[in-house]
Amino acid sequence: MNHVGTFTCETCEGDIDCRIGFSNRKTQPLSFPCPHCDALIEITLFLNDSPSFKLNGVINDPEKRYGMFDGRNPFIDLHLDFPVWSTTYVPGHTPYLMAIQKMRKDPQEGARESDYLHFQQRLNHLNELHEKSKDLKRTLRLYYGENKKLFVKKAEEFTEEKLERTLAMEDINLALYRLISTTFLPFIDPISTATFTSEISDLVVDIGTKNKQAFDDFMDEIISTNFLANLQRDCLEIYPRILNAEIALRPALFMDFVEEQPDNRISGKISTKDFNEYKDLYKDITEILGKQLSLVAAINNIIHRQNHNKFKPKDGGALSSISKFADKTLSEKFKYLDDCWFKFDDAALNTGARNAIAHYATEYDEKTQIIQYFSEKEGLKQEKPQEMFFLEFMRMLLIAFREMHYLHHVIKSLFYYEFIINKNTRKISSNSKDEKRKHKQ
Ligand SMILES: [Zn+2]
Repeated sequence: MNHVGTFTCETCEGDIDCRIGFSNRKTQPLSFPCPHCDALIEITLFLNDSPSFKLNGVINDPEKRYGMFDGRNPFIDLHLDFPVWSTTYVPGHTPYLMAIQKMRKDPQEGARESDYLHFQQRLNHLNELHEKSKDLKRTLRLYYGENKKLFVKKAEEFTEEKLERTLAMEDINLALYRLISTTFLPFIDPISTATFTSEISDLVVDIGTKNKQAFDDFMDEIISTNFLANLQRDCLEIYPRILNAEIALRPALFMDFVEEQPDNRISGKISTKDFNEYKDLYKDITEILGKQLSLVAAINNIIHRQNHNKFKPKDGGALSSISKFADKTLSEKFKYLDDCWFKFDDAALNTGARNAIAHYATEYDEKTQIIQYFSEKEGLKQEKPQEMFFLEFMRMLLIAFREMHYLHHVIKSLFYYEFIINKNTRKISSNSKDEKRKHKQ
């Protein structure tokens, strides 16, 4: 369903022709800068029995209706769920239809039905979830509180799934990770995530068995310094923020099903919010990825050299410990991951853009949705900007989140090892001492 109408900017009184494609989300906050004067215009669509609009910055004057758009006014296409590629009005070429045409294809059948269904499922899930973002934040906070029973209860209510459980730490973590995997299903690739989860649990048990001493030393260090617990907390703080960003992530999620362009540019527009709302989220995710790489490096060192602190010598020397590695910058860290077990997706990282965000060296043009970032140190000049589209940025943010989520499974597996395997070993060793004592008596 589409709404086609002419709106008048309250700031400059210029007329704008708009075609608004309906999403199924109950509230649809759309926004764009006035093509005449750049003032921010917000059109919020409410899906009730009869759809209604709340307007901010424009008025909808029925006198202005002049029939089919004829090009006398600037034209804007809007849709919450899809990237918008149009620049002029073509009857019938709605954002929905144009997006479907861009989906990857089977030679005979056209767009893959399974892809389309998958995307619809994601949208339906998001439509239910977005209202629960505050609830999720509150529930995750309970995980750190004293009242674990309440946490488990709330987590079960959230996922509508009852678990066989005790209040042992491994069961509390089970509730936590069920909560996360159910809630964030629309944001991830379920198949590769499930494969990774099972591979990493096997890997942890495997190196814990084959290199027990080295692995225990590593675990001692990350548990006693609280590194693992702090990192888990950092990750958990990102999840509600991703849920909050669902509105601008929808077009980025759609790009999962679009054939990649040869130049790899993603130029479609997003019909809501803007870059400045999300730049810190990206910066914070990359910060966490940097810390997670310490776990990746430590495990890699155990696999190749049976010691989590032992790096491969490079240019005549080697890093002396995982702490030294932690101090390196994100882009430097990759140099120390020799023949690494974890294949990091390069599309998640643009260190130039990341550094520019950290140093307030970005500029955003709402009209073109082009982000300019100044990544080189140039003093005050800022002459050599690089560019990316807002949609490209949201796509990169999504992929960075997915990498963080994969690596969060490493944290999960290490905790399981600590709670189940290590605890069991301790039990066995204390039992065997008891046995010995018995024999002596
Ligand atoms: Zn205006």
